[in-house]
Amino acid sequence: MYFPLQDIEAAALNMNDPQHLRIHSLETFGTHDGPGIRMVVFVQGCQFRCLYCQNPDSLDVKGGRLVEIDELVKRALRQKTYFGEEGGVTVSGGEPLLQRSKLTAFFKKLHEHGINTCLDSNGRMNTPEVHELMEHTDLLLLDVKHINEEWHLRLTGQSNRTSLGLAAYRESIGRKMWLRYVLVPGWTDQPEYLKAWAQHFTSYKTVERVEIIPFHQLGMHKWEMMNMAYPLKYTPTPALELKESTLELFNQYFNQVILK
Ligand code: SF4
Repeated sequence: MYFPLQDIEAAALNMNDPQHLRIHSLETFGTHDGPGIRMVVFVQGCQFRCLYCQNPDSLDVKGGRLVEIDELVKRALRQKTYFGEEGGVTVSGGEPLLQRSKLTAFFKKLHEHGINTCLDSNGRMNTPEVHELMEHTDLLLLDVKHINEEWHLRLTGQSNRTSLGLAAYRESIGRKMWLRYVLVPGWTDQPEYLKAWAQHFTSYKTVERVEIIPFHQLGMHKWEMMNMAYPLKYTPTPALELKESTLELFNQYFNQVILK
């Protein structure tokens, strides 16, 4: 269930205020971003420019609303009974790593209350501050959007180096992650690169699950509403055959592969 943020007291504060997160929206009872039932905080701001972005309104780093971290903790506590054993709080985006230090503070507070933390990231940064955040992240959902540097640049406007670096770092500290892959016809479905992607991660012991997310067109109206030219307007959703062959391929390399 999504709801707007007008009901949250958010003063006009400096972006660098350590007490506030810049967020786009909140979801309660989320079941798509991590295990169990979760409160999902979608943060505002992203430096990728994925051609298929379903939330172009979350890209502007100056958009969204500033919300007190303590207010978010209070909301999580009110929902804690619904989280059960597996659930908790997920921070998604936008790109959470742009607010890494604030998220470390947020996750520390959630842990003080015994709430599980999950971070959904594109791996835009791989710095000591991000490594500190990793210590307080129970599960990393890492989107590795393309294994080939050139295709990654074309698809997202950014290199895949930090994403691959962050995956390697997470593996080196032995903390679990789920990898996510958006399957886009004509962009991320090249058999040789799908295989290279799987081969790159197959030996990772911390990868519990791989999620294949078929491209869809549900975000198109947002591009239109924002008067932005949507580059994938005529890109079809993946055919059943492509979804099944990708699932079959990834199943050869990973123990648990989920086709969303
Ligand atoms: S990383 Fe996510 S939020 Fe950022 S542009 Fe890509 S799809 Fe959109």
